[in-house]
Amino acid sequence: METCLCEEVPKCTNFQSAICLHCNRRLCLLHITEHNQFVFSQYQQLTNEIEKMSQYINNEYEKTRDVYQTILTDVNNWRARQLEKIGEIYESHLQYVESRQETLSNTHQQLSELLDREARQPLKVTTDQNMITSRLWNHVQEIIKRVQHDSAQLKWNSLMSMALNRECLSINSSPKQVSSSSDIKVRRQKTSSYTLASLRQVNLRKFRPFKRLVSMFGNVKNVEHSKSEIVSYIGRQNPEMPIPNIISSFLAAWNRTTDVNEKNVILKEYTSLIRNYISFSPNDFSVLVGIHAFFFNKRIEECKRELMTTILHFFVDNNCLNVNQVIYWFKNKDENVYKGFDGAKQMTAPFIKSLWMNRIDNNQQAAVMQTDVEEREKKPFESL
Ligand SMILES: [Zn+2]
Ligand SMILES: [Zn+2]
Repeated sequence: METCLCEEVPKCTNFQSAICLHCNRRLCLLHITEHNQFVFSQYQQLTNEIEKMSQYINNEYEKTRDVYQTILTDVNNWRARQLEKIGEIYESHLQYVESRQETLSNTHQQLSELLDREARQPLKVTTDQNMITSRLWNHVQEIIKRVQHDSAQLKWNSLMSMALNRECLSINSSPKQVSSSSDIKVRRQKTSSYTLASLRQVNLRKFRPFKRLVSMFGNVKNVEHSKSEIVSYIGRQNPEMPIPNIISSFLAAWNRTTDVNEKNVILKEYTSLIRNYISFSPNDFSVLVGIHAFFFNKRIEECKRELMTTILHFFVDNNCLNVNQVIYWFKNKDENVYKGFDGAKQMTAPFIKSLWMNRIDNNQQAAVMQTDVEEREKKPFESL
């Protein structure tokens, strides 16, 4: 009999009259009504929760749509900026490469003409007449010698001919330290393993010229002795002497003397020595930073733009600095800020401009090249 009673707790003595589908309990009329009300209120609550949750996820999704639009705009703007930057760098490279090839072509033409006009033709005329004076003999020999000497200019800057390195154009981060196999080939006998880790950490004050090194680079009387002194001095440094210090010391020595001949000796004699210490990795900005450190620490005030242009051209022309690297550094201001950067950048602008101007000037240059070559032969470094 008890099994027919209402299952409500605490105990109800009424007979069962219905089964609740929600909890499978058998309840009396009173309790089933009560229970139904409870179930209905629970149902309402659940429905409300569903609606609330639905509203919530809709709102959240709407927010992501807004963010998506913002990010999409940012990404597209970034792409446009990078493409523009790459375009500019590409243009600079192209201008430089083309102007360089044009210069080489002009040089070749001038030398061919010189050889023909001053050697081949006079000799041909003379041989026909079966007489050759010692004066002509000497003249022709002199011309051949001169052409041979100037033919050294018929070369690409070895740094320029290195393939444009992918890392050199990295646009999303500061340049990483990478040494490619071509660097190893170029500088197999590299004396120093110093490389500058990152431009962000550059402190130009740290790269001030070393007094001892300045005085050794300034030695123009006993150059060979001084060279070996420099090598052993740098070798003794612990930790390894940073390249920028070597560069700034070299420039300080050159800047210190007012004697043009002494300046020329310093450049001519010590450049090859310095080259041994340079890493030539496209991502190692040591040489450039050394040049900046020279300007920063020596507080150069007079004609600093002209001085910077001349120094950069000298380093590029003498295979101590990759022109691509200078262009890259110049075009990537936002990434490579350090104290003294802005000043260096302003000073570098005329150099970058000169890369473009070279192309325009080449035609005029061709006309005066002959005298130019002769002048350079006498005073190879006086332009600096
Ligand atoms: Zn129930
Ligand atoms: Zn009951």
